Amino acid sequence: MLEGKVAIITGAARGIGKAIAQKFAQNHANLALISRSARVLEVADELQKMGVKVVGYQLDVSDFDRCQQIGKQIIEEFGRVDVLVNNAGITRDNLLLRMTEQDWDDVIRVNLKSVFNMTKAVMSQMIRQRSGSIINMSSVVGRGGNAGQANYSASKAGIIGFTKSLAKELGARNIRSNAIAPGFIETDMTKSLPEDVRKNWIQTIPLRRVGAPEDVANVALFLASDLSSYITGQVINVCGGIDI
Ligand code: NAD
Repeated sequence: MLEGKVAIITGAARGIGKAIAQKFAQNHANLALISRSARVLEVADELQKMGVKVVGYQLDVSDFDRCQQIGKQIIEEFGRVDVLVNNAGITRDNLLLRMTEQDWDDVIRVNLKSVFNMTKAVMSQMIRQRSGSIINMSSVVGRGGNAGQANYSASKAGIIGFTKSLAKELGARNIRSNAIAPGFIETDMTKSLPEDVRKNWIQTIPLRRVGAPEDVANVALFLASDLSSYITGQVINVCGGIDI
């Protein structure tokens, strides 16, 4: 489904980002994988065995200058960019009364500013190509809010505003911009939750199970591919049907 396309995926060292990288490689995309963790270099080596070109880049996506530098390098290396998946994200959960300024700033920088940074790094290339698909990882809590996650929810709601604005700004250039809002997905980010919290949570999910990273990767594949060529400015929930 992605034959001949070049995709950049941030936060690709593990979890949802890694699952998206695997899914895209299976569908023949060439990949530039980014993460703050050096593990991304191993993931790149592993996926290259599937017969596609994969290069890993270790950087902090909240650093604007590094993103512009790496964006240039990727365009030189691959010659084009068809898909950007802004997936890197962190949590620093706490009730607002206890939330520090550092907790707030870290989450907004890594989750929201990074989306600006990476989009700026590739948009001129997409405009030259007159095509592109930008996929931003939001969250159901960016739509519905969540106690203890004011910083995270604000960053994910910000991503939705950014995604919809970009769709309006770049639609005439044939560049699409969509967001995915996952619910509870089984990754390192969520596995620290206590068993009772987890059990109670599952009872609120109509499909009665947590999501797998692959459930999100399937939607990313759809949004990256030409099957979604008339879809832009949308937020697609991948949440097992929970009410938001
Ligand atoms: P994860 O913690 O397993 O993986 C996050 C990835 O982002 C890692 O590869 C990490 O190295 C990378 N990363 C973190 N900070 C970075 C930085 N500053 N620069 C570059 N890379 C950085 O998380 P996950 O569960 O796979 O989540 C992926 C995305 O999906 C996040 O944006 C998260 O907010 C969102 N999400 C997850 C869930 C869930 O239930 N797991 C639900 C909704 C939304």
